[in-house]
Amino acid sequence: MSYDVIIIGGGPAGVSAGVYAARKKMRVLLLTGTIGGSSSVSATIENWIGDVSIAGYAFASRLEEHLRAQDGLDIRLDESVTGVTKLPDGSFEVKTERGETFETKSVIVASGVRHRHLGVPGEETFTGKGVAYCSTCDAPFFRNKHVAVVGGGNSAFEAVEDLIPYATKVTILTLDPDFTADPVLHDRVLGSDKVATVRLAKSEEIVGERKVTALRYEDLATNEKRELSCDGVFVEIGMMPNAEPVRDIVECNRLGEIVVNPRTFETSTPGIFAAGDVTDLPYRQNNISAGQGAVAALAAYDFVRGAGAGNPTVVVKNV
Ligand SMILES: Cc1cc2nc3c(=O)[nH]c(=O)nc-3n(C[C@H](O)[C@H](O)[C@H](O)COP(=O)(O)OP(=O)(O)OC[C@H]3O[C@@H](n4cnc5c(N)ncnc54)[C@H](O)[C@@H]3O)c2cc1C
Repeated sequence: MSYDVIIIGGGPAGVSAGVYAARKKMRVLLLTGTIGGSSSVSATIENWIGDVSIAGYAFASRLEEHLRAQDGLDIRLDESVTGVTKLPDGSFEVKTERGETFETKSVIVASGVRHRHLGVPGEETFTGKGVAYCSTCDAPFFRNKHVAVVGGGNSAFEAVEDLIPYATKVTILTLDPDFTADPVLHDRVLGSDKVATVRLAKSEEIVGERKVTALRYEDLATNEKRELSCDGVFVEIGMMPNAEPVRDIVECNRLGEIVVNPRTFETSTPGIFAAGDVTDLPYRQNNISAGQGAVAALAAYDFVRGAGAGNPTVVVKNV
């Protein structure tokens, strides 16, 4: 069966796109790893409009409930889309890791972002054994421990804030001569007597036995190799867009984010839309992603019915 739209991702952007597309009576398939998206690991979300405070897991289940209430929407969980190809007739083929293929007239990419890795020896081996990427989720596991946080921006400083109540000591290591976090975070984090800093530190290896015992780095000021004894390493060096499935057929910027028209969320390839954190637009937030998913779905609807994305008033006969 051929779909009108295939949505890749089940975060707020993908779910919102799914609800809007289904309500337009499009034939919709939503392929995703999980439903809920990045913030479903949070203890609480306090800026989701309509809920003063909602636990991350409850947020995810509310999204799933809303999605499953729609008619004519197929949902496949635990799916990873590996590629999207344009077919000679202008439609698209979407391929999953399991080797399945699906045909569709349009695609909405809502696959979000993932944490950037250091790519040093030991990082993979000790992931979950001292190496962590989500302070909101994992800070409580580092009670009375010495933790290294690699990074110098807002996410690194926010991770330190999460760790301060638990850890005995937190050492921030940054590659740069200075920190790029917002000044308000500087004051809060660097004012703590638990926090130490190392600038111009190039992380080279995470070492340990069963768990992390140290982080090896090069001191770029002196070119000396050093070792910081620690029980954990939080890697907070930014995010990478999950744009791989479409990277070869749509324009991406130098950060790998999908470039979209901010009016229609159409990419450089007509018929492929993108919404949420995976795009090149600023302000990565749940409400914003949900709004973008809604626009992408409406624009995909106009595209499929032949009016052209972003032309809701054009009447098309014989749809
Ligand atoms: C710890 C944390 C806390 C946060 N707290 C807040 C907050 O309090 N308030 C707020 O507004 N924002 C918060 N954010 C930001 C917010 O979570 C994001 O802006 C939002 O989730 C982006 O939505 P999205 O739908 O674009 O992507 P995501 O929510 O990241 O969803 C992406 C989806 O795509 C799926 N996926 C990825 N790759 C593929 C693939 N190849 N094939 C199929 N499916 C795929 C994933 O399984 C996932 O379902 C937080 C983020 C984090 C990490």
